[in-house]
Amino acid sequence: MRIVRKEDLAADLLVIGGGTAGPMAALKAKMKNPALDVLLVDKATVRRGGSICRGMDAFNNVTVPGVATVQQYVDSIDLMSDGIADPNISKVVAEKSFAILRELEEWGVATFPRGADGKYMVQKFHPKGAFLAEMRGDIKPAMAKLLAERGVRTLNRTMATRLFAAGGRVAGAALFNIRSGVFQLCRAKAIILCTGGQGRFGLPDSGYLFGTFDCPFNAGEGYAMVYHAGGELANMEYNDVSPMLKDYEGPGHSTFIRHGGYLVNSLGERFMTKYSPEFLERAPSGIREQAMRTELREGRGPIYYDLRHLPAATVELIKEGIFAAERPTEKEFFALKGIDIGKDLIELTLSGPNMCGGHGPTGALVGVNAETRVANLYAAGDVASTGWGFVGAAWVFGTVAAEDAADRMPALAFAAPDEREVAAELARLKAPLGREDGFDPEELEYKVRRIVKPHLTSPKSEARLEAALRAVEGFRADLDKVRARDYHEVMKCVEVAAIIDTLEMAVRASLARRESRWGYGHYRIDYPAKDAVWEKKYAVVAKDMATGGMVTYAKPVPEYRG
Ligand SMILES: Cc1cc2nc3c(=O)[nH]c(=O)nc-3n(C[C@H](O)[C@H](O)[C@H](O)COP(=O)(O)OP(=O)(O)OC[C@H]3O[C@@H](n4cnc5c(N)ncnc54)[C@H](O)[C@@H]3O)c2cc1C
Repeated sequence: MRIVRKEDLAADLLVIGGGTAGPMAALKAKMKNPALDVLLVDKATVRRGGSICRGMDAFNNVTVPGVATVQQYVDSIDLMSDGIADPNISKVVAEKSFAILRELEEWGVATFPRGADGKYMVQKFHPKGAFLAEMRGDIKPAMAKLLAERGVRTLNRTMATRLFAAGGRVAGAALFNIRSGVFQLCRAKAIILCTGGQGRFGLPDSGYLFGTFDCPFNAGEGYAMVYHAGGELANMEYNDVSPMLKDYEGPGHSTFIRHGGYLVNSLGERFMTKYSPEFLERAPSGIREQAMRTELREGRGPIYYDLRHLPAATVELIKEGIFAAERPTEKEFFALKGIDIGKDLIELTLSGPNMCGGHGPTGALVGVNAETRVANLYAAGDVASTGWGFVGAAWVFGTVAAEDAADRMPALAFAAPDEREVAAELARLKAPLGREDGFDPEELEYKVRRIVKPHLTSPKSEARLEAALRAVEGFRADLDKVRARDYHEVMKCVEVAAIIDTLEMAVRASLARRESRWGYGHYRIDYPAKDAVWEKKYAVVAKDMATGGMVTYAKPVPEYRG
């Protein structure tokens, strides 16, 4: 088995990641300029890949006119992010999300149920305003059909492993087919990165490496690619810890809460009344996590979702959304457990941490057109720091990136990647296949992810973070001892390298932010209070392109332009 480099590919616009943001970006680029040559690649398949592979029960973060306002949305994200999210980005999401809802409806890609009053069913999940619209539909195959009709070229089972930049602008990407072992350089005038967040970070409580809440294909290569190409990443210190059904890392939390479910402890107390009397279960996620951990630590666990007070029709709506629209296996899970969600308490655990620009603020630092600091490189969706944006930000920023790239395309030209860098990337991929002996990539992945929870979950301390840094050095050395027996394992070797990169980013950013913020989103036992020095400041992680080392620095969050 060997990896063969085949002829170079070229595209005006290369979109990497065919989950949620990627297909929207590719489609919108073609809609803006049908003459553009657009190539969309996905490590899995565009037809079923990504976080919304089966569908999604709500369009989170849509500002429906007459229901909520743009300003309410900007204020809500400001509250959730404690000021560490670009308000101008929130404004773009709020302003453009409803048009996307209408387009999805017109295209027949998704449907949005209406209530008896004929209006969209929109519920509250944020501290302020109502931004979650009930959604149905088998979105991915419908999008894949539209892409084919519009002439978007797609490559499935094709993983991007590195981006190449030349003279400060993006020049292309290394693509690896995980089935055939073919390696190709794809040159592009512009690239939109839509590879999702880092879903393979903390080990899930279930113990399964790939039984993650986030799409398990999203192993953080997007963050690693931005980093190695010279981009900046923000909020890598933020712990995205989600309340999870015990023994099943599936959706539930936002659905249960937006429909009026409570969080209760083993004494039956609705404990969020103590920790966030104003926002209750809709408190910012780090505050909620801190509350849950406190309940567990102080012996009032287990903790549960309680839906028993909800009307039967609401419980049916919840079941329809989760069991039919989003995750049919969850229906089987509850059946096997003998749990009727309308009648029984639903036990939960805290899973993660993960990293994500959808459920949190983590990711590539981008501007209002999704642009990174590497010219012609855009990032959209969970790979970008678009502050708790969920599918709303993925679709909106897929759109703005594509439209900006399409507008600028006449002035763009191909840049020439450094052939030595391409050769080095090919060698990196080939190395594990050439090893006769060594350990499996999954063994290293387990080792790396095992330290995430004890070292990075709040409360964090300098001693634990420093110990994690030392472990990272060892993991990097271990990478040279991992062998791959087939192309699939080569993919896993690339993934584990990205997991190590993102671990180092999380540790260094956690060390840099010498304060506590976002409740348990980032709680330093040695700096337990907020520090004014970090007010409205990102902790940025970037590569020092001269030395190759990882650097961190503070950078002001942009002022709101209103
Ligand atoms: C279980 C769950 C429930 C959720 N519920 C909701 C909800 O109800 N409402 C809501 O609004 N949001 C919800 N979200 C969040 C929302 O789904 C995400 O924010 C959004 O889908 C992210 O879109 P994306 O395009 O960034 O990533 P994804 O849709 O995950 O797509 C990323 C794609 O990149 C591909 N990829 C990864 N690495 C590579 C690589 N190296 N090369 C090539 N391809 C690569 C993957 O295969 C994948 O197809 C939920 C998320 C999850 C995981």
